[in-house]
Amino acid sequence: MNFSSKNRDYFIQQLNDLSFDLLVIGGGITGAGIALDAATRGLKVALIDMQDFASGTSSRSTKLIHGGLRYLKQLDFKLVAEVGKERKIIHRIAPHLTRPEPMLLPLVKSGSLNKTSARIGMWIYECLAGVNKKEWHKVLNKEKTLCTEPLLRKDNLIGSILFYEYRTDDSRLTIEVIKEAVGRGAIALNYMKAISFVYQNNIICGAKIENQLNGEVLEIKAKYVVNASGPWVDELANIESKKTENKLLITKGVHLVVDWKKLPVKQSLYFDTYDKRMLFVIPREGKTYIGTTDTFYKGELTNPDITKEDRNYILKCVNDFFATNTLNISDTQSAWAGLRPLISKLGKGPSEISRKDEMFESESGMLTIAGGKLTGYRKMAQRVVDRIGEKIYQQNKKHISGCVTQNISLSGGKFNSPLNFSDFIKDQTIQGASLGLPAEEVETLIYRYGSNVIEIFKNVTLLKNEKNELPILLRAQIVYATQHEMCFTVSDFLIRRTGSLYFNIEMVKQYKSSISLYMQSLLSWNNELMNKFELELEKALNEIEMLNTNV
Ligand code: FAD
Repeated sequence: MNFSSKNRDYFIQQLNDLSFDLLVIGGGITGAGIALDAATRGLKVALIDMQDFASGTSSRSTKLIHGGLRYLKQLDFKLVAEVGKERKIIHRIAPHLTRPEPMLLPLVKSGSLNKTSARIGMWIYECLAGVNKKEWHKVLNKEKTLCTEPLLRKDNLIGSILFYEYRTDDSRLTIEVIKEAVGRGAIALNYMKAISFVYQNNIICGAKIENQLNGEVLEIKAKYVVNASGPWVDELANIESKKTENKLLITKGVHLVVDWKKLPVKQSLYFDTYDKRMLFVIPREGKTYIGTTDTFYKGELTNPDITKEDRNYILKCVNDFFATNTLNISDTQSAWAGLRPLISKLGKGPSEISRKDEMFESESGMLTIAGGKLTGYRKMAQRVVDRIGEKIYQQNKKHISGCVTQNISLSGGKFNSPLNFSDFIKDQTIQGASLGLPAEEVETLIYRYGSNVIEIFKNVTLLKNEKNELPILLRAQIVYATQHEMCFTVSDFLIRRTGSLYFNIEMVKQYKSSISLYMQSLLSWNNELMNKFELELEKALNEIEMLNTNV
């Protein structure tokens, strides 16, 4: 059965009728990873999210698979080694979503690093993280640095370090992990909210969930329940047990997107800010995005606001650091704000709190996993499923098998090795050209869908005689997203499945109504749902618009 929005009713019926080994609440990267790990170890898994998959923090990150360099500052050598190893694994199992990204770290007179400390730090980091030799850092002098990045200010520059981070697409990584889990027998549904829990002899054995699209309530029966709800973990743990202490401190991180021509950096940069923090500047798909802020946050969790202070801070950091000093308030084309679900530590500032994950278990047996990073999702999942394995053994004296996800290519990552991915790109570029598709767009598609791009091309062929004002590549992707990625709303498509709201806002503004009409024709929304989904997108667009006007 396809992971299609048209099959929602069938999957809902399954959630209601079957009895699961594991219910995972939260379809961000953490929940997705747990669902895949558990499914590959033979557990019958249900995964639900109250919004779209990856609507929470997992579509609002800096979109990097880190090598763990920042943990070196905290002297957490074990974590540096683990994260470095994880980065290699994710690159192998999803090469389309993990591209090496050269990153320039300018060294400035008043900065946190000088050439010697940076060199030693880099050397330790590369050894611990097992960085490939061809990606070892280079130290550049001032002249070479300015050739590499002419936009930098000359007056306080000493030189730079050129090293590698890996770029990803956070929400697509999440959806690919979920698709792989579904392909291996898990049932995953978005727009299903856990509202209360079910117990037998005081042990948790399921949850009541509410369908957010029609208000219907049903019950899921599961032997084990995991709370992987990111910034919402306290909220959910409090519903489960009134005695739960809050575990989280939430900090907010904002990114701004400007047209690349406004900040035409030649490659990504990681630079010191005037207040002793570090910010990324990353060119992508004709835009440059900049972030992130890190401030304590106590507001609404679903749609954290971007204040004019957030925007002004980022613009000031950029204008101070670069020679151009050209970014204005009206240059913000798009933006996003994400919430870090960090494990609370009294007396620490937002950027000092560890990004490590921790697991907690309630009296009734619900496991809560919080903290962590996108990069470490697979290891987090392994720890949770190992714990479930222990519980199964305690109760039934049965062992579950060990973790195998390091060897499981994700959906879209079905190549024998990253090397085969380069051959695939060449082949598919030829294939795309034979369909009359521009090479640049084909490349974007290959990095978005990986080995599944073949399905997009099949749709192009199928739809070529359809009369519709929408460009054929957009229609081909909409059909794919609704048929294979449980995409149900316009925002699902334009934000989480394609990232267009962030990196192609011109297209969003031009085609939003036609996309909505096309999706209605495919998914038979009633007018009420259509209005709701259109308003949701309009709200997101207005919030971005406000950032440009609000001084
Ligand atoms: P989420 O993605 O928030 O998922 C939780 C899900 O639970 C949500 O989708 C929500 O709808 C659902 N949910 C909540 N309550 C319920 C309920 N009652 N019923 C059903 N569903 C529910 N990490 C990196 O590795 N690299 C980076 O570059 C990076 N950059 C970052 C930048 C910023 C600004 C931030 C904030 C984080 C960054 N991170 C990065 C960290 C990373 O993004 C997060 O650790 C990760 O996305 C958290 O995922 P999650 O699944 O735990 O939470």
